[in-house]
Amino acid sequence: MTTIDLKELGITVQDIKRNTAPSELYEEAIRREPGTTISDLGALIAYSGTKTGRSPSDKRITRSPEAEDEVWWGSVNISLEKHSFEVNRERASDYLNTLDRLYVFDGYAGWDPKYRIKVRVICGRPYHALFMHNMLIRPTQEELADFGEPDCTILNAGAFPANRYTTGMTSKTSVDLDLANRQVVILGTEYAGEMKKAVFTLMNYLMPKQGVLSMHCSATVDPERTHSTILFGLSGTGKTTLSADPHRLLVGDDEHCWSDDGVFNIEGGCYAKAIYLTREAEPQIFDALRFGAVLENVVYDKADHHVDFDNTSITENTRGAYPIEFIDNAAIPCVAPHPTNIIFLTCDAFGVLPPVAKLTAEQAEYHFISGYTAKVAGTEVGVTEPQATFSPCFGGPFLVWHPGKYAELLSSKIAQHNVNVWLINTGWTGGAYGTGSRIRLKHTRAIIDAIHAGSLNDAPTSTDPWFGFQTLRDVPGVPEEILAPQSTWSDPDAYDQTAAKLVELFRNNFKSYESGVRADVLAAGPSRK
Ligand code: ATP
Ligand code: MN
Repeated sequence: MTTIDLKELGITVQDIKRNTAPSELYEEAIRREPGTTISDLGALIAYSGTKTGRSPSDKRITRSPEAEDEVWWGSVNISLEKHSFEVNRERASDYLNTLDRLYVFDGYAGWDPKYRIKVRVICGRPYHALFMHNMLIRPTQEELADFGEPDCTILNAGAFPANRYTTGMTSKTSVDLDLANRQVVILGTEYAGEMKKAVFTLMNYLMPKQGVLSMHCSATVDPERTHSTILFGLSGTGKTTLSADPHRLLVGDDEHCWSDDGVFNIEGGCYAKAIYLTREAEPQIFDALRFGAVLENVVYDKADHHVDFDNTSITENTRGAYPIEFIDNAAIPCVAPHPTNIIFLTCDAFGVLPPVAKLTAEQAEYHFISGYTAKVAGTEVGVTEPQATFSPCFGGPFLVWHPGKYAELLSSKIAQHNVNVWLINTGWTGGAYGTGSRIRLKHTRAIIDAIHAGSLNDAPTSTDPWFGFQTLRDVPGVPEEILAPQSTWSDPDAYDQTAAKLVELFRNNFKSYESGVRADVLAAGPSRK
């Protein structure tokens, strides 16, 4: 193994394990990290500590003359003085220097060699090294020998807090990106997902500079690799679940780019929600959680290490990270032709949106900028009101440029490649959360099968009275009565009231974009006054 020099980063630890095999990382994790163990199916069970999800309000982007005009500053990209970044980086390296052994993983982000970047992860936890081994693209031995200097470095000192008195800190957690030097510093959170989303954020900065659209979406391709589909959607809308499709090859489950040459995955692995996972409903994901996979924050039986996927006592956000080739029908290399279909996934907990609608180019731009989904209320007893979330480009937290830049790229690519755009509601039917029920996974899968079969291209539609898009009325394998949402509600007046409320939320959200979009896009929003 080639030795690497981390002195420039202020790292003086001598014992550095680089690109260590999963079996050895298992051994290291179990020996050195209390609580870590192996599930009865072979996955490494690890715990991320107090933080079991991302900390978006603790993300910072370092100020630089270059970044000044490029970054969409605000609540998504909170600025950090260069000096504070350096304080945090030194804090991270000082902490890492107290450890007797460090782990480095060198890998790639981006399956297209033309656009891929070299990423170096430096961390103290074997669990984090295995996570990034699974999530980045794993280099061959030759590639590793010639790796050279990375394009991006992640210093993960998540076990050590930020200092709240450092200028710009509002908590003990800080995830700091320096776009100019392509460095990431993580303090005060051991949630592994921060690392993968930091890489995604960097790609969201670098790719549009080259005219490439980076996207928060999953992607599949037909077995002949001629027709691809990308599925946009915010967390929990079904990107991972629906891209594990027995009829299609999996290109990737979360982060992709669309260049002039087609679509490529950014990652080398998947990060699936594990809550309520069953082999019956999601066999591909269930079977991927085997030796080599990381299972985070799950509860298991102490006697036989059988995982209880229904147990939410640590978090609802239990996750499994596995290399993409753990899915049998992965499309390796993870590249695909220009998409034939684009699907916007939304989990509408209001039960207003239809299971599937076809969008015009202008409606597509409107809904892409809106990025609507809804969350069901927390666990508080008696609270059943859904919460609407609008996140531009279905990935607001990871955008670096103004959303308009991504929206323009998407629109021009849709026009150029003549792509069909569909809106699919994976959320509620027959009433809002509390009254109705979630659309069945098998029905959503049938809708997606029909899109791929081409049978919806000329199928009968009706204009949605509230949103103005074309609702599909006839989809093979889906009961006709659920396709028009109004008719699934026992009380039609209640439907109209809820729809009016949702339309209002859409309009309020869109106000901040009105001045920046074309009139035809604005007119493609909800139609009923
Ligand atoms: P993230 O960005 O956080 O990774 P995601 O978009 O990949 O989120 P999934 O992990 O696929 O989201 O989560 C969708 C969840 O909703 C799964 O637990 C899935 O079983 C459940 N679900 C229930 N009904 C449906 C449906 N009709 N379509 C899709 N998913 C459904
Ligand atoms: Mn996912």
